Amino acid sequence: MKVMIELEEAKEMVLKATKPVEHEIISLVNAFQRVLAQDISAPMDMPPFDRSPLDGYAYQATGLEDMPLLLRVVSEIPAGTFSERRIMTGEAARIYTGAPIPPGANCVIRQEDTERDGDQIKIARPLMAGQNVVRRGEEIKEGELLLKQGFYLTPPAIGLLAAVGWDQITVYKRPRVGLLSTGSELMDVGQPLLPSKIYNSNNYTLRGMLQNAGCEVISIPIVSDQIEDTLAALEKMADTDMVISTGGASVGNFDIMRHALAQFGCEMFFWKVNLKPGTAASVGLKGQKLFFSLSGNPAAAAVTYELLVRPALRKLAGHSCFENKGILVKMANGFAKGGRQRRFLRARAVFKDGEVWADLASAQGSGVLRSMIGSQLLVDVPANHGPVNPGEILQANWIEAWEN
Ligand code: AMP
Ligand code: MG
Repeated sequence: MKVMIELEEAKEMVLKATKPVEHEIISLVNAFQRVLAQDISAPMDMPPFDRSPLDGYAYQATGLEDMPLLLRVVSEIPAGTFSERRIMTGEAARIYTGAPIPPGANCVIRQEDTERDGDQIKIARPLMAGQNVVRRGEEIKEGELLLKQGFYLTPPAIGLLAAVGWDQITVYKRPRVGLLSTGSELMDVGQPLLPSKIYNSNNYTLRGMLQNAGCEVISIPIVSDQIEDTLAALEKMADTDMVISTGGASVGNFDIMRHALAQFGCEMFFWKVNLKPGTAASVGLKGQKLFFSLSGNPAAAAVTYELLVRPALRKLAGHSCFENKGILVKMANGFAKGGRQRRFLRARAVFKDGEVWADLASAQGSGVLRSMIGSQLLVDVPANHGPVNPGEILQANWIEAWEN
């Protein structure tokens, strides 16, 4: 087992060991937050026929008409209907938005640009052939590749699939992620707090993060710092694709998680990553399953989840892109404590003068969960960097954050 490695190496090791979950077929109505496990090509043209984008009159323009042009209205075509009546010279069809262009017509004049008198319309300005006609296949051509395997299904992507009639799609199964909160000091909410105890917040933070990533969370009650309890808890994680624990990760006598993982049969990849908060993370592999042991400190757990677990989780879930988005930010404020270790500072992203500024959360301690709230950035301060100065430009990871 390696001790104290760089985040990049840690990520490479976990990504290499992560295999995507299996596939399943679902109906499109359940597609939100799922990841495509197939390439999707368009089975049809969209729109499927030449159509009118507005309410007006369809006729055959030559560009040579004398103005004003008088036309006789010979048919009416509301959306959802069609007319086979050919439009001849001197004729027009009353047409509505979304309706198919009738044979013979090649343009649509806006209702607002006509004067109607009985079954006659008067047009003051000529149109060109093709004007105000949306061509069949203009948006999507039959056979065209629309979405690739590994695509995370966003609402417009799901809408696009619906637009071309997809009903059943092959997606990756939702990863089943086991969540363990270890610590003899922990109690669950809903009970009065006993002396020397604290409430288990990590379970709730990580549960939400996992749910937001489209995972199914399998969690068991709080696990004590006893190795037997920890081993029993690990046994209960049999039906999961990945396991994340918090607590018991550091150097104390009761920090037993990595020992428990080894005893459980994990091949331990590493213990400790050169970053703050969250140094005391370790990762092991048993069979195909990765076990992440994160620090119990609430901010450390959340930060290492974002930096280390999330890329692996994305690969597990079938995503084609595993990386956090990196951006350059300008520091809105300084941070005095530059240290030997690389540090990730929580910050709010502020857009000013065409740049992204990082406005640091006031408390950066590894136990301070509050500063994760509203932080969209983890500013990457290299090891041995020294104090961070206002105005300095640094690399940052864009993390998930809820707008408030
Ligand atoms: P540990 O990683 O076990 O050394 O824990 C580090 C700090 O985080 C200690 O102050 C713990 O009490 C606290 N802690 C551990 N687990 C949790 C949890 N699930 N929720 C909130 N705080 C925790
Ligand atoms: Mg502990």
